Amino acid sequence: MKFTDFNLSKSQLKSLADAGLETPTPIQERAFSVIMSGKDVIGIAQTGTGKTLAYLLPVLRMWKFQKHRLPQVLIMVPTRELVMQVVEEIERITSYQNVAAVGVFGGVNMKRHQAAIEDGLDVLVGTPGRIFDLALQGSLRFKEIRHLILDEVDELLALGFRPQLTKIIDILPKKRQNLLFSATMTEDVQEVIDTTFDYPVIIEAARVGTPLENIAQAVYNVPNYKTKLNLLQYLLQDKETYQRVLVFAPSKRLADMAYEQLLVDFEEEMGVIHGNKSQNFRFESLRKFHAGEIRILIATDLISRGMDIDDVSHVINLDTPTTAEDYIHRIGRTGRADKDGIAITFVREEEQELLQAAEALMQKTVEVLPMPEEVEVTEELIPEEMPNLRVPNVRVKMAPRGEGAFHEKKYKNTKVNLTRRELEEKRGRKKADRRSKKKKKKR
Ligand code: AMP
Repeated sequence: MKFTDFNLSKSQLKSLADAGLETPTPIQERAFSVIMSGKDVIGIAQTGTGKTLAYLLPVLRMWKFQKHRLPQVLIMVPTRELVMQVVEEIERITSYQNVAAVGVFGGVNMKRHQAAIEDGLDVLVGTPGRIFDLALQGSLRFKEIRHLILDEVDELLALGFRPQLTKIIDILPKKRQNLLFSATMTEDVQEVIDTTFDYPVIIEAARVGTPLENIAQAVYNVPNYKTKLNLLQYLLQDKETYQRVLVFAPSKRLADMAYEQLLVDFEEEMGVIHGNKSQNFRFESLRKFHAGEIRILIATDLISRGMDIDDVSHVINLDTPTTAEDYIHRIGRTGRADKDGIAITFVREEEQELLQAAEALMQKTVEVLPMPEEVEVTEELIPEEMPNLRVPNVRVKMAPRGEGAFHEKKYKNTKVNLTRRELEEKRGRKKADRRSKKKKKKR
């Protein structure tokens, strides 16, 4: 089947052709006519399945220009990055139509969003918190909403957006179409469906537990996090193989720790994104990774969920995700849209059970690769690995050697107290220190 077989408008087909998109993905094929029929739809779909276009194409096909320029389509997603991504996708497929899409999210001045809304819009994409604030404050009017789309609902709920979600849904016009997409079907998701949906049609893109077939998976058994970082550093030296690598770290702190370790070798070709980084920094890192300006992106789970990161050659899991679904989510970041991908997971003894759970869900055993001899194996443990010392991720009270402050606090203080010049000087000193350390090591 081709997009030309769908009942799409000429301008939509032209935009799709411009974007080089010809063949619909399975979920696009299955969702199109059902959504066009006006029914409520639940899509069980991971990112990478083409779920965004699966709902955008029919909804925008049904859209009609209205003079009032009040939003007719409301799309709620969990993160700012996803807001930007969905808006971009709308712009891409409406390049020959007069559709105004506005993206709103927390963390930036509301005035900017208010102004964009006042200018008139057709599609609103946003995170529930900001949408709710804009509605409260009177800028947003929902009376023309005909389609509500909740994307990545499992994630929306995991982030605690349930109250805002419920309040927003309560004030929408009753006569509307509801579409919901989620990678996993949790009890919370089921509850939202039960309270919001009318006899929905359920479409499953790839059953959770069936990883995309074009992903080769492998595992290294590694005794601890520090050794994992040594192994990562070793593997990444092979630039020809590891061309575009997404590295998952278990927490913000451990993402920063990985970044620090790799800095010496890969400073110019590496970025890191997690919730403590500023929005601009995250966008910029993502843009560079997209543009191929950096080869390695270190990320935490949450922040990378749903982000559209193309052409990832390797996903490397520094930890084994705590649920089998998360494992499948992560490895799904490679091997997207018919490209081959490789997913490598570093597994500690204590994580074997988690790997087995993922294997059970996939009904597949993942190949174990031998540890390369060149990799230094250390016995040193990080606090999270100490027996009976399950400390929360962020506030780990470990003073870096020779300094009295906590790691997190030190970072914050640096941000607040130092002038830009002082910061740059400090960074320069750090860099020089690292270089001399590296030289010593070589000798
Ligand atoms: P999604 O699952 O919606 O996050 O989409 C993942 C990626 O696949 C995005 O970069 C889309 O632009 C791309 N994509 C969506 N549909 C198609 C298609 N029919 N053919 C090729 N790529 C697609």
